[in-house]
Amino acid sequence: MKAFQIVEWGGPAEFVDVPVPSPGPGEVLIRMAGAGLCRSDLDIIDSAAGSAPYAAVLPAGFTLGHENAGRVEYCGEGVTDLQPGGSVAVHNMHHCGTCEFCVHGHEQTCTTFTRGAIGMTRGVGIDGGLAEFMIVPRRELVSLGNIDPLAIAPLTDAGVTSYRAVKTGLDRLYPGSTALVIGVGGLGAYAIQFLKLLSPATVFAVDRAESRLDDARRFGADHAIRSDDRSAEAIMDLTGGRGADLIIDLVGNNATLALAAAVSRPHGRIVLVGLEGGTLEVGWGKIATTCEFAISLGSTVSDLQEVCRLAADGRLIIDYETFALDDVEVALSRLREGKLNGRAVVSFP
Ligand SMILES: [Zn+2]
Ligand SMILES: [Zn+2]
Repeated sequence: MKAFQIVEWGGPAEFVDVPVPSPGPGEVLIRMAGAGLCRSDLDIIDSAAGSAPYAAVLPAGFTLGHENAGRVEYCGEGVTDLQPGGSVAVHNMHHCGTCEFCVHGHEQTCTTFTRGAIGMTRGVGIDGGLAEFMIVPRRELVSLGNIDPLAIAPLTDAGVTSYRAVKTGLDRLYPGSTALVIGVGGLGAYAIQFLKLLSPATVFAVDRAESRLDDARRFGADHAIRSDDRSAEAIMDLTGGRGADLIIDLVGNNATLALAAAVSRPHGRIVLVGLEGGTLEVGWGKIATTCEFAISLGSTVSDLQEVCRLAADGRLIIDYETFALDDVEVALSRLREGKLNGRAVVSFP
């Protein structure tokens, strides 16, 4: 079969011919239906030999694609509860199930597959979904019943990552409270929807692009605010001087973190997800007293199960454009240029 791989660090990703893998005990062979593309795919492709965080710790020679959904082709020994043809979503974080964090239900920080600053998983050091077939351990699959797996692909990374960030702060949200989503890209689209579905908070969204503010309203934001040096003032005005109880920063640069601090509230929570590398000084007088600052990474299998349930019930807007596997380079260029409407999903016939 054809697989889109990192063949060597520093070179372009390319198609190679590889054998169809066969599942070992406890594993399942998946016939791919949808593989979403993500900005981190570009970061992986762009990695120079030896560079952090990817090339320094992962051997080249793996298939890309970490947002995956498909149908069961064949079950390995011991897998008895899935039937060939059944739809499945693939959890995007590989985990061992037995380390200290896995045992405590925090499989996104599984120590067994941590390599430097990243978690080794399918599409990141292990063969991913940009090929006709892939292998996944049964415990990292969520059964989808009769849902079309194609539209589920973007939920397995962009969807669940924002779901986890929202869930870590739900106890801050009560009637009359305010949530703020900074950045209305691939993750922000879902963060806004989850906040509206799971909490009674008034939801604010901030972005630099006017078209994304229209999207924010379409996803359910009560207020969509242009990101500039008056954003904090606008939020304080609209909340009667209160600020925001839960702030989810999906951008993560110095300006967005400064905005988060400026509108933070006592007993609130700032959750950083975005990877632009900004920093925030935390201390007395820097953020609201008793406000917590946290970094949220990834998600758990139960998060994916819950997100798939919301999708199955028709409660999520999932924007995506499809591309054939042969056109993956076109899709990656469109992603690089910011010219996609929603997620790019490679669709398999
Ligand atoms: Zn990703
Ligand atoms: Zn583990």
